[in-house]
Amino acid sequence: MGDPNCLFCRIAAGEIPAEVVAESETALAFRDIDPKAPVHVLVIPREHVRSVDAAEDGHRGLLGDVLLLARDVARAEGIAPGGFRTVLNSGDDGGQVVQHLHAHVLGGRRLEWPPG
Ligand code: 5GP
Ligand code: ZN
Repeated sequence: MGDPNCLFCRIAAGEIPAEVVAESETALAFRDIDPKAPVHVLVIPREHVRSVDAAEDGHRGLLGDVLLLARDVARAEGIAPGGFRTVLNSGDDGGQVVQHLHAHVLGGRRLEWPPG
């Protein structure tokens, strides 16, 4: 399963190495290769969904699984008490570069708002 041309499908399949920090039956969390904060983890559904915009009503449970794994990551990384940010970029203007839905979990420093 998965799109052979998709980087994150290939990470989910174990074909490309990544530092996995948490996983569930339906989602996977691994460290961002170019961290923008002391903690920067990406949480993806194992199933290829291109973006939030491409998500369907049938993905309701899967999207919940992604956010709950993001919660688990934030707790395990010790950033939940101080606060953290969960970001899902969608499309060009949203800054999405990898076309497989992913939630960024960022924390470990004071984050600015609003983002650029
Ligand atoms: P986007 O801009 O699509 O929201 O975020 C894509 C993220 O994927 C970026 O933060 C980028 O650093 C990360 N990334 C790109 N290629 C790789 C990779 O091969 N491995 C890992 N772990 N992260 C990657
Ligand atoms: Zn994919």
